[in-house]
Order: sequence, then C-alpha cells, then structure tokens
Amino acid sequence: FNNELQRSEKMAIISELAASVAHEVRNPLQVTRGFLQVLTKKYRNQDKLYMTMALEELDRAAGIITDFLTFAKPQFERISVLNVKEELGHVEGVIVPLANLQGAQIDMRVPDHLQVKGNSSKFKQAFINMVKNSIEALNGDGQINVWAYEMDERVVIHIQDNGEGMSKEELARLGEPYFSNKTKGTGLGLMVTFRIVEAMGGSLEFKSEKGVGTEAVVSFPSAAV
Ligand code: ADP
Ligand code: MG
Repeated sequence: FNNELQRSEKMAIISELAASVAHEVRNPLQVTRGFLQVLTKKYRNQDKLYMTMALEELDRAAGIITDFLTFAKPQFERISVLNVKEELGHVEGVIVPLANLQGAQIDMRVPDHLQVKGNSSKFKQAFINMVKNSIEALNGDGQINVWAYEMDERVVIHIQDNGEGMSKEELARLGEPYFSNKTKGTGLGLMVTFRIVEAMGGSLEFKSEKGVGTEAVVSFPSAAV
C-alpha cells in the first residue's frame, strides 16, 4: 500500500512537471516557427530544403505536445465527477477552428445529465485526439458527428466521420505507440487515448471501412446518482 501511494505521488509530480514544460515550450516553438517561415521564402535550393525540414521537425515537436498535453494544467491530478456535455463543449471550442479551417463540419449532440468520473484534462485530451484524427481523415470537407447517451448504467459516446477510413490491418494496430500513416503524425494520440479511457474504467472500440469512414465508440461507467 505504501509503495503504491509513493508511486501515485511520483506520477502526480511527473504529470505536473510535464504540464508546466508543455506550457513553457509551446510558445518558443510557435515563435521559432514564425521566423523560420519568413526565412523559408528567402532561401533557395539546398538551403530551402533545410528550412523546410526544420519546419517539419518543429511541427513534430508541437504535435507531441498536442497529443499529450493540449489541456494539461500545472496542477496535481484531480479526480472528480465530470459533466460530459461541459467537457466535450471545451473540446469543441478548441477543435472547431481547426475543423473550419479544413472545411469540416462538426455536429455535437450531448444531453445535459451525463456524468463520468475522471480527470478533466485527461478526459478532454482523450477526445481531442480522436476528433483530431477524424478531421485529418476527412482531407478537406466532410462531416463529423459526436453523440452520447446513457445505457445500462454506462455513458456511451460515439465519434463518427465520413473520412478515408481504415483497412483491417490498420484498425488492428490502433493504439500501438508510433503507429502513424501521416507524414506529420506522432503515432501517440490513440495510445494516449486508450490509456486514459482504460484508467477511467472505460472501453474503446473502433469500426472502420476504407473509403467510407470511421466510428469510435467509447463507454464509461456512469457516475450519475
Ligand atoms: P497520428 O494521428 O499521429 O498518426 P494516432 O495514434 O492519433 O497517431 O493515429 C494512428 C493512426 O490511426 C493514424 O495515422 C491513422 O492512420 C489512423 N486513424 C486514427 N483515427 C482515424 C480515423 N478517424 N480515420 C482514419 N484513420 C484513422
Ligand atoms: Mg492523431
């Protein structure tokens, strides 16, 4: 018991440290990106190639922070009863500008009363990683539907897109660290999502068909009284 307590305390310290690092690192990355982008226009040939590669590496670093720490706050991890509509509303606020930029539509239908138990930052992180994948799978315009309900004392949340979909082989590898089919992917997003869902006592399943779309079904024990 003692050891376990120590371990969770260590985890809490690491989480807090990671959150502060994410906050501190994001800004200089963004500033550097801006300068590099200006410079890229002035260079030619080999130099231009180096600048472009530097930009891509910066984006990769930013992607790692996004997949782990979009909502991280420098505070010790708090477990509480979360209102699903409210939490997903925050996710929507972050993701809608990104969706609109690419011509994607997001329709979110979540009733008021759904409640689950967990950490707010982690919960939101799990969903942003899935919705972001949906946006990226659309390759431009397309539709993403998010809906939720309670069934058999579980809160069930669906995220569906009409994007490029996946083959059986790709589907089987979801959640594997560093598995990515994207040039700028980290392959860490779904690993993070699976871990968070499992830690909350939930389950996550994906259905997908190549060329048709993908649907993620997440379910958690309901915390409604
Ligand atoms: P990344 O997004 O950095 O590639 P992820 O762990 O988030 O890493 O996703 C892993 C891979 O799973 C993606 O590269 C993509 O091929 C596939 N994938 C995940 N979600 C979807 C989706 N909604 N539609 C199509 N493919 C998806
Ligand atoms: Mg991803």
